[in-house]
Amino acid sequence: MAKILLIEDEPAIVMGVKDNLEYEGHEVLTAEDGERGLALVRERQPDLVLLDIMLPGGNNGFALCKTLRGEGFAGGIIMLTARREEVDKVRGLNLGADDYVTKPFSVVELLARVSAVLRRGGRTVEPLARYRFGAVELDFLNYQATKGGEPLALTPREFKILKLFVENRGRVISRNELLDKIWGYTIFPTTRTVDNHIVRIRKQIEANPSTPQYIVSVRGVGYKFTG
Ligand code: CA
Repeated sequence: MAKILLIEDEPAIVMGVKDNLEYEGHEVLTAEDGERGLALVRERQPDLVLLDIMLPGGNNGFALCKTLRGEGFAGGIIMLTARREEVDKVRGLNLGADDYVTKPFSVVELLARVSAVLRRGGRTVEPLARYRFGAVELDFLNYQATKGGEPLALTPREFKILKLFVENRGRVISRNELLDKIWGYTIFPTTRTVDNHIVRIRKQIEANPSTPQYIVSVRGVGYKFTG
């Protein structure tokens, strides 16, 4: 039994696939567009994602697959393709998908591929390479960041702080933990140093730095990243 996320906008396919996977004993989550799908992968960490290519909104299946692998998602990905050209693209591009099925597919075929990918098990976890939230895109490999396509001027230390936040998304990080992990024990900055860095990062990534949406203060403790 596995946790499977189906990202698909055609209700008939969603219903059919969900029923059959649940009948096999799997837990099935569904999302009808790429944004919701990405949020569910981050929140629920499914074992396998069934990913339609043509999705409403800006995030198609190809882009989403690339994003998921860039964020280090190590579960299986099976692409659901509708056309010959899409199959060629899945094969041709190094997207990180494990397999594909072409529509219309039979339930038996889909279940066989699901079992095969799940049996193969997870891949080795890639380091966090990229992350996107709101209008901000972070490239941790090249230390590049943009907001709405415009480059941000983050220092290597600010990148390191953001990476720690992204890796611990949704968890409160205390100022002391930030000091330990970012500054280490070699120098002796104060918690005030931490706060100053957070102010600078907020100025760059937040739409409105005085009422931050992504790096939220947790009174008396520290900060929480919610992007
Ligand atoms: Ca579709």
